[in-house]
This record gives sequence, structure tokens and C-alpha cells, in this order.
Amino acid sequence: MKDHHALPSAYDPQAVEAGWSARWEEAGLFRADARSPKPKYSIALPPPNVTGELHMGTALSGTPQDIWARYRRMTGYEVLWLPGTDHAAIATQNVIEKQLAEEGSSKEELGRDAFNARVDHWYETVGTTIIEQYRELGASLDFSRVRFTMDPAYVRAVRTAFVRYYQKGLIYRGPRIVNWCPRNLSAISDLEVDWQEHTDTLYHIAYDVEGSGRRLEIATVRPETMLADTGIAVHPDDDRYSDLVGRFAVLPLVGRRLPIVADPAVDRHFGTGALKVTPGHDPMDWEIGERHGLSVINALHPDARLNVPELPRYDGLPDLVARERVVADLWAEGRLVATRPYVHQVGHCDRCGAIIQPLVSEQWFLRMRELAQKCAEASSRGEVRWHPERYERTYLDWLGGIRDWCISRQLWLGHRIPVYTCANGHRFAFVEEPAVCVHCGSAELTADPDVLDTWFSSALWPFATLGWPDDTEDLRTFYPTSLNATAREIINLWVTRMIFSGLEFMGAVPFKDVAIHCVVQTADGQRMSKSKGNVVDPRVIIGRYGADALRAWAAAVAMSSQDVRFDESRIEGFRRFANKLWNASRLVLMSLGDEPVPTPAPDASLALMDRWLLSRLQAAVKTATQGIESYSFHLAINGLYDFCWHDFCDWYLEAAKPRLRDADPAARAVCLHVLDSLLRLLHPFLPFLTEELWHRLPGERTFLVRTAWPEPDQQFADAGAEEAADRLIALVEEIRRERRAVGAPARGGHLAVAPGTDPELAELTAQLAGLELVGELAWAPLELAEGRARIAFPNATKPGRPASDGEARRLRQEYERSQTKLSDPEFLAKAPAAVVEKERVKAAELKSVLERLAVG
Ligand SMILES: [Zn+2]
Ligand SMILES: [Zn+2]
Repeated sequence: MKDHHALPSAYDPQAVEAGWSARWEEAGLFRADARSPKPKYSIALPPPNVTGELHMGTALSGTPQDIWARYRRMTGYEVLWLPGTDHAAIATQNVIEKQLAEEGSSKEELGRDAFNARVDHWYETVGTTIIEQYRELGASLDFSRVRFTMDPAYVRAVRTAFVRYYQKGLIYRGPRIVNWCPRNLSAISDLEVDWQEHTDTLYHIAYDVEGSGRRLEIATVRPETMLADTGIAVHPDDDRYSDLVGRFAVLPLVGRRLPIVADPAVDRHFGTGALKVTPGHDPMDWEIGERHGLSVINALHPDARLNVPELPRYDGLPDLVARERVVADLWAEGRLVATRPYVHQVGHCDRCGAIIQPLVSEQWFLRMRELAQKCAEASSRGEVRWHPERYERTYLDWLGGIRDWCISRQLWLGHRIPVYTCANGHRFAFVEEPAVCVHCGSAELTADPDVLDTWFSSALWPFATLGWPDDTEDLRTFYPTSLNATAREIINLWVTRMIFSGLEFMGAVPFKDVAIHCVVQTADGQRMSKSKGNVVDPRVIIGRYGADALRAWAAAVAMSSQDVRFDESRIEGFRRFANKLWNASRLVLMSLGDEPVPTPAPDASLALMDRWLLSRLQAAVKTATQGIESYSFHLAINGLYDFCWHDFCDWYLEAAKPRLRDADPAARAVCLHVLDSLLRLLHPFLPFLTEELWHRLPGERTFLVRTAWPEPDQQFADAGAEEAADRLIALVEEIRRERRAVGAPARGGHLAVAPGTDPELAELTAQLAGLELVGELAWAPLELAEGRARIAFPNATKPGRPASDGEARRLRQEYERSQTKLSDPEFLAKAPAAVVEKERVKAAELKSVLERLAVG
């Protein structure tokens, strides 16, 4: 027989959680079998950056995925949850460059090959750390299939995708205004620009208009860019300037003639309503320039120094130094009309913080029209379901206004663009490293120096990890995957791009469901960020409360419709819940005895409380199942919390104690059956604790993910028993209240019952006799005329005091307020468990007082 009596008296999450991940893996529980006859369920873990560490987002996205993976295994599916990491080009290059700078070196000094070797070495050392951290979280990943976006097979997938797009004519090279990071010397995407409010100076500058004797006033915050001006634009309906359209202004300091054009993009209310047009350094000016055929001048070097050789006075100066000189010169020429402070949004590189310089450069682009169209069509066919649903709009809106995707980056780290040019000028894309030109056989080939945007490779994740472009068994079996769980800030960067890549290369959407989790802010509502140093490290939380408590909390908040503030007391509340389950299991195990315990059957041997608990269990099974199925994980975990804590521990076990002591077979059978079901139901949420307790139960026990998920058993649904037990519970609460109200001791004493007040009361009080819930009682008829209560403790020292009408009204209002709170899902999802618990107790007590008053 098992040593279940040895369950330690105190629950210690560290001791419980230490060994299970290794045992699960040893048993091969999470290794997916593509040949299994079971239906398939698969998730590709959003690859964390290889530089990354576990953060709250990891817990919030990892927990729903693991709940689904475990739940599906228990409902008969073959599950693949595939892990891996992303090379995160910009972030990683920044880390390595910083290391080199500290060593007094640089990537240029090292050279490209040595730099790549250094990067590979670094990936090998840190790559496994982040995956290791998922084990601490209890993630049931298939660790035999770990992938990396730079492993050789993945490199081939990326190159294949590029070549196929290229051959279809969807990839082209062209000039374009890009967001240029002068520190990383690379283009970055619109989505990687971090907008910050700056207060700068707005300069008003006077330009002469040729042949009119008029001066035109222009307002700008970047006067140094005027050196690259090629036009002036005004709004077509702006009467102040309509006579000037078609004429030329003269650019101060330079003397260039600038055509004055009318364009509806001009904001008449900004500055003077006349806009200097700098197509080389502003996205809107670029478009105006395109519409009116203005020339494009690029006046910046990649590091943001001025590139104006024909103006030696400014050439080579850093942009801000050039600004000072330009302003001083304008002042000297009497062209600076006014300056005023100006608050505006300035783009920063979200990787390194440098101010972004819009500049025109040659880049590689992926045409988006056709691909976006495919996404929209798949969406209208309902092939991807979004949770919460409103994020589908975010996705469709972005697709609606999409521009071609600039996929090249001027970094050293990343997937090289597989395009080659031969000595005879032939340009071609090639999957393998080519030896000779495909057109003329020349062996003199130059590889394109750029690398691909990291998201280009991440976009292939759901199928490249399964072996694409090869036709593998995994790919045939597990694609499309079932779920993508991620953060809302990468819906467009990543989720959208996976969808069109999947449609393009696999002819099917990459996943059927997308779950977008909320964002956790600091306790005072700030954004958590590494630079602010206010990030909560989940490993610290795991150290304090255990991974199970962290996961239960993550399940309760992850799908919240609004962002949540971090509240450690809620995690502590789930730690107390785990402790409660531990103690209940201990009590049950100690009461079981050595004989085999049968499964309960709905027969006459069951007491009222047995029938009540078994009926409540069926409701808990339904709630938990529906909660998971509808991505309302909070409903599932809160329902199980209530059932376990209140129904099972507080009421049933308390009531059943005397019967368990007397080795009552029905009570034993009910206890074991309910505990068994509870451990299964809670397993996806608290995998470590449930596994530990499960293996202490009598009988042969396999692992929980190999057991069946409980199904509601209608033969135990018993509305009559629930109603009767509810009345009994109300009576017990009433007695407890009355004891407190009149200062009677918690146990012992006489209870008086008013005759004739309630025909059921006598029957109910008879049932109390067998329960220890209210302490020992002796019964006596209620004879006190002054009491409005239907029950009383006549021997108590303080006499019962009837409530006034005003007090009754106040109590009723208080009860209604409390009920409103408890029926508010936002309150239930967000308030700390301890606060919710307090509110419940308060509501129950108020209810019992009110009932007592009503009867009196
Ligand atoms: Zn940067
Ligand atoms: Zn050639």
C-alpha cells in the first residue's frame, strides 16, 4: 500500500515542484507522435528572443497554451507543443556590439566572419537558458523538438520563402523613405518606432518668392533639413497663397529655386500653412514630391551627419550642430522671423533609443496587396477566430491601410538576403549558396550585404518548425496548428505576417485560434520596462509562492479585456488555495483506511450532503470545461476555486468529519471520488501540486495528463439535494450568526427554536444533529417573546436585540451592494482573491441576518 499517510503537514511549493518536470520528460509525456491515430492538437510556442528572460508576458501567454495542451491531452488528443527561440537580430547585435566595445574592439575590427562566429558561440551559450525557464513554469513542451530561427534547416526555409516571393515578382528593390536608426545604421519598421513627446523650437523662416516681391513664411522644427528642400506646398483651398501656386520661392542660404505647389495633404493650421517639402527626409513630403515630380535630395550620411558636399560650410556636421549653424546664419541674414516652443512626437528606435531619421534609401520590399487580400478573404471565411473577438478589427484595419513591407535591414546579424549579382550585372535569388551566375556562368558573384527583417523569418514559424519546405510527416500531421497565444503589440508585426505567409506557402491559415492576452502593469499602473527597472521577475514570484500559484493567477487574468495592475496578494491568495487543497487531501488520505474504496453510486447509502456535493461537482465540471473551451480561463479557475474551497472543504469535509472518523464507506467513497475529479480538473492550472497529490492517492496512478478529463455525470445531478442542503447551510450560517450576535460560545449550549415559524425547521434541525458544523447543541423550545428571531440561545449572556426598520433597510442596501459587486465579472477577475473572499463572507452573513429578520 502507498505511503499516503506521510503527506507532510505543511504545503511547500518548492519541494513539490522540484522534481516533476524531469519526471514528466523522462516518461516522454509531452513528446508528440505524428503517427498516433488520435485527433491532433498543436501549438508553436511564440519563440522568445534568445537574449530574453522570463517575464510576466511569458507567464501570461505560456499559461493559456499549457492549459490547452494539458486539457487536450486529457480529452484524447495527440498534442504537439513545439518550443524554440528567435535570433532577434537588432537586439542581439546590440548586445554583442556592447560586449565588443567593452573589450575595446568593434565588429568592423573583427570582420564579418569572426563576428558571425562570435554570435554563434553566444547563441550556443545563452540559447538554452530561456527554454530552461519554461520548465520552471511547468510548460508541457515537446523539448525533443526545440527549434531556432537560425538553425540550418530554418535558414533554408527562410531562403526558400524569399526566392519564391522573388520569382513571383513580389519582392523588389527601390528607393523609399525609411525609419533610419543612425546608431544601428539600419532601417527599422514603423512598428519599432517608439514615439515620445519632445518640446523643441519651431523656427519661422522667410523665403522670397520670385517676381512677386512677397515673402513666404515657413515653420519647421528641423531647420537643417531645409538644405535638402526641393519645393513649397500649400493647401489648394488656402486663399492666402492661391496666387503664389506655380511660382518659385528661393531657398535661403542655398539659392535653390523651389516650385510652389498645391497639395491637399498640407495642414492649413500648422505654422503659417506653407510647408517646406523635403522628399528625402520626411514620409509625407516624399508622397507630395511623388505627386508633383519634385526632385529628391538625400542630405544625410547614415550616421546622421550632413551629406551636402556642395555646401562645405555644413557638410559633415552632426545634425544638431548643423541646426545651430543654420539658425545662426538665417538670423544673420535677417530671415529668422520668430521662434516659439513646440511640443510634438519624436520617433525613437525602440531597441537603442536613438532619434529616428527618416531618410530615403534603397531597400528590399515585399508587395503587400495580394498577400493582404488573401488575409482578408480567409478572415471573411471565418478561418481564424480571435479571442477577444475585437482584435480581429485591429488586424483587418491594419491590413486595409497596409504599405509594402520593407524587409531589408543593414545589420550584420541575421538571415542574409539571398540575392547575388555577377560581374556582368545579372541579379538573381538563389536558395543554396550559388557557385556561378545562373545566367552567364560567371563565378564572380557579389552577395547582397543586407539581412532580412527578423519578422520575415518569424513569419514562417508555424510551418518552418515542422520541416517546411520539405513535405514532412510532422508538417502533414500538425499543420495548421490549433492556437497562437500572444501579446497585442505584435499582432501586426507577427500574427498578421504568419497568416499571409501560411496562406501563401501552405495554402492554409497557420492556426485556427488566436488568443491575445492582457498586459500586466505595475501596482501603480505604470508600464513595466527594463529601463525603468520596475519589471517583476516571475522567478522571484515562483520562489515566493510556487509556479502553480503564479499560473493560477495568470489563468485568472490573462484574457481580461483590460490591462491589469500587478497585485501580489492575488498570487498569494492562490498559494493559500493550494495550501487548502493540500490540507483537504491530507484529511481525506488519513481517513481512507486500508480497504479499497469503491466508486460512489447514486443509492440510498448516500447522505444528503453526499448527494449535494456530487451534484455540485457536476456543475463544477461543466464550468471548468466551458471556461477552457471559451477562452474564459478565469471562469474555469474561479469556479474550481469556489467548489474546492467552499463546497468541498468548508462544508462537505466539515460536515463529514464524524462519518469519516466512523469509517463510513459512503463518505469515504464520495471524498475520494471528488478529490480525484478535482485533481484532474485543476491539473491544467496547477500541474505540479495536482500531480504530487494524485500520486499519493490509493491505487495505481499514471500521470494526470494520461488520465481522462472528467465529464459531467447526469445521474449525480440532484436538484432536490442541492435545495435541501442550501437550506441546511443557510440554517447553520444562521446559528453561527446568532451565536456571535448574542455572545454564545462557538460550541455547546442550548438552541431554542420558535415553534411553528417554519415547518421545515424541525426537520432541518434534526439533520444538524449528525454534523459538527455548529458544535454540540441541545434543543429547547423558543419561549422568549421579545426575540424576533426564529432561533435563539436562551442561555447566552447577551440577549438578542431586535433590529429597527432603519437598520434593516441599511442592511438590505449593504447586501444588495455586495451582491452587485459579486456578480460583476470585472471585479471577480481583477480583485485580489482575499478581497473577493471577504466580500462573499460578508454577503453570506448579511443574507442570513436579513432572512432572520424577515422570519421574525
Ligand atoms: Zn537603434
Ligand atoms: Zn551573369
